[in-house]
Order: sequence, then structure tokens, then C-alpha cells
Amino acid sequence: MDVEPIEFNQARLSAFRRCRRRFFLKYRSDKPLLERALTLADRDWDAARLGQRFHLCMERLARGLPMQSVANGLPTEQAASLTKAWDYRCSLRADQFLTEYDLTIPFDHWLLTARADLLARCSDGTVTIVDWKTGANTNADRLRRSDQARILPYVVLEASSSLGWNTVTASGITLVFWFAQDPDHPLHLPYSQRQHEQNRSNLASIMDMIDGLEGEEAFVRVPDDPATVDTVCRPCEYIHYCERNPTSAGPVQPIDYEEEDLEAVWETFDFSLD
Ligand code: SF4
Repeated sequence: MDVEPIEFNQARLSAFRRCRRRFFLKYRSDKPLLERALTLADRDWDAARLGQRFHLCMERLARGLPMQSVANGLPTEQAASLTKAWDYRCSLRADQFLTEYDLTIPFDHWLLTARADLLARCSDGTVTIVDWKTGANTNADRLRRSDQARILPYVVLEASSSLGWNTVTASGITLVFWFAQDPDHPLHLPYSQRQHEQNRSNLASIMDMIDGLEGEEAFVRVPDDPATVDTVCRPCEYIHYCERNPTSAGPVQPIDYEEEDLEAVWETFDFSLD
């Protein structure tokens, strides 16, 4: 019997790592999401809006629109960041650029997807993957170990032959995190065949693990201890299904929507950027 492929991506991986029950509720159930917006503080909405606007501007520049018209109406600081980002893009040695590019590869019976903010490919087989960050580099180690740093280069390498990039190797790929608040110090993460094999094996184990779980109860909740409940459950939009009682008061430490699932936020609330 043919099994319908299931989509998997960085957002789902991050959600599964955060809490298996939350993964189930979010992607495998049709339980309604109540008052999700209340889990986002104003500053997180601001950051999300800023991120989406930045990506949209970069896409318009890549289509050939002049900086003057793309940056028109942006606050001075954001216009300056956009100029710096565009300068960085122009400084990259490349024969081909792909902007806001969606990639999908088969992975067993799953479809593994990733979106690259920018792919810059040279005819010598090297590829630079750029991820635009609108903030600062507050934790390089966390970025190095992030799901994004695992999945993006993995998918790019696996998809390279379908893009006609037959000379690309793992060691020719570099992932760059570029920071609007520290534009002169992007974080360069070289990739390697060893990391690629490791990523393949880690992804396969996680997907096997998910395949082996059936029914809501199999997707266990995070431990019910005060520290976990305060950090993981308190900002969770499904907390009303879990009878978890956070003890701390004050502002909620938000879920990292940039790392996790910004797309779902856009689907829930429609923004106008103009
Ligand atoms: S409230 Fe806690 S246990 Fe329940 S889904 Fe959310 S993170 Fe998981």
C-alpha cells in the first residue's frame, strides 16, 4: 500500500524536540487553538513583523527594484540595515542567486522541506546559504546547534542535483547567519560530509521515533516540574489541554517563533505590510 508522504521541516523538528505532546496537538490533531495571540507579547509581534518586512524587501531588491523605492517609508535604522544586507549579498562571489527559495527532498516516506533566504552558487561548486537575522548574534553556540543549522545545509546538498548543481559537495557549503544589528560580523558555519551523515542519521532516528508513536498518549508531555512548566509550558498555546500550573508571574518567556513556526503565525493572523 502506498503511504502518503508526510511533510517534515525545521519547525516540526523544533516542536517535537520542545514537547512531543505539543507536536501532536499542533500537527496531528484538530483540537482548536484558543487565544494563541495571548502567548505572544507585543515585542514578539513587532519582531515577527520586522522579520517578514525585511525578507519581503530583500525579495523585491532581488527582483531588480531599486533600493530607493524598496526602502521608501522604512524607519531610518531599518533602511540602513537593508542597505547593509544588500551590500553583503552583492559582495558574495556567485554565478547564481536564488532568493527565498523553497526546497523539498524525499526522506524515506517523508518530505523534508526547507526555505533558504538566499542561495549563492559559484560555478566552482561552492554554495553559500544566507539566513538573514533581524536581531543580533546573542548566542553563536545555540545557532551552531540549531535545527536550522542542521536541516538547511542537509536539504541544500540533497537537493543540489535536482537544481542542476552537480558539483556541489558538503565541504563546499557554508551557512551564514547575517545579523542586522551586527552586519559586519556574520557567523560562518562550514559544512562537512561528516556533519551531513550525522544529520541524516539524526533525522532518520527522529522520524522513526515519530513513526512509532500512535495516539495522543504516546506523545508524552514534558515533565511536570516547576522549572519545565515555567519555561516550556507557560508560553505554550496548548496549556489549557494539559493542566499545567506555572508558578512564576510576570512576562512570559516567548517561544522562539523564528526558530519554530513563523509560517503558522502568518496563517493565523493576516498582516498588511504596506
Ligand atoms: S502545556 Fe506543556 S506539556 Fe502541554 S503541550 Fe504545551 S509544552 Fe507540552
